[in-house]
Amino acid sequence: MPVALFRRIPPPATFASCSGCDICALACPVWQQTHDLRLTPKGRATALQGGASAADLVESIAACTMCGSCVPACPEEIDLLAMTLSLRAALAAAGNSPLVSLAARYLVPPRVTSRLPVHLKTVLLAEERLLADPALLSAATLRLGGPAHVVVAADSGRDIATALEAGLSPPPGRLEEFLAGLRGAMRVVTTEGFLNPLLKKWLPGLPVRSLGEACLALAGIRRALRPTDFYVIEARAYHADRERLVLLYDALRHETGCDINLDLQRLAVPTVATSLNARFGSGPVRIAEQVKWILEGRHPKRIVVENLEDGEAIRRENDVEVAHVAAIAARD
Ligand code: SF4
Ligand code: SF4
Repeated sequence: MPVALFRRIPPPATFASCSGCDICALACPVWQQTHDLRLTPKGRATALQGGASAADLVESIAACTMCGSCVPACPEEIDLLAMTLSLRAALAAAGNSPLVSLAARYLVPPRVTSRLPVHLKTVLLAEERLLADPALLSAATLRLGGPAHVVVAADSGRDIATALEAGLSPPPGRLEEFLAGLRGAMRVVTTEGFLNPLLKKWLPGLPVRSLGEACLALAGIRRALRPTDFYVIEARAYHADRERLVLLYDALRHETGCDINLDLQRLAVPTVATSLNARFGSGPVRIAEQVKWILEGRHPKRIVVENLEDGEAIRRENDVEVAHVAAIAARD
């Protein structure tokens, strides 16, 4: 049976639960860079409570970077990300979404001619930059258990993630085709976390982890981290599973002494480099400003990243050494 994409995404009416506390704004890069509450989850909730429709909120809905910081921040436990996605879907359905044209270049599904068996293996959904770096891809594969236990997916689902981020539905059958390549796996490891919460809903019971988390499970990687390092968590995967992961990263900080891109609420400050709108310079959030915010008052000797786009964004703004977490130890 085809998977219904938005079956579990609550309708925008759940904005009715918003108490107006403003806590989401503190974690939101849109608010940090604009100080415009209309562009925050609170702003959208207040407007919807007052009778606004998605069409009245185009600028606000399109401004969101999908970093996920607001979700664990919200004391009313509103799934703000799912609701913004639902609002984006409403805009796209009405032909009124500024994000659709940005998404166009990423919507072509990969041409997969044959699939490797994934039964009881780790499937790595690798970003294009990792696929283009054979040495780092090999290091990541070794960290995940070695080539005999790891399948690097020919189909990363990038087109599906992009479509959903823009508020579009993938073509009929495309989602099923993607998920068919993951069924039977022991776990799925991602390099970018937009799909993580959706994969958990679509494939219940299948562990979904970030490459960063998988690498940090290895003592050799943790030993390679130093108190003079600054560690950059990939924000989307973290916020999708923050309740569990906050303990892991707290332990990492205690064990290694390294600083981490966590704020006072222990939410991950995102570079937003993987965000559809920020990547194209569309919307109010500038990646360079995020990097400045992340590194403000910090003087690390090395920056360790979980995501290569985060690494590129940081390299553009300063000349400190940047290393990927999969590459910081030769062996466990
Ligand atoms: S997902 Fe990120 S950018 Fe979007 S509203 Fe939440 S905190 Fe702001
Ligand atoms: S944190 Fe939640 S309840 Fe508070 S203003 Fe934001 S959306 Fe509303």
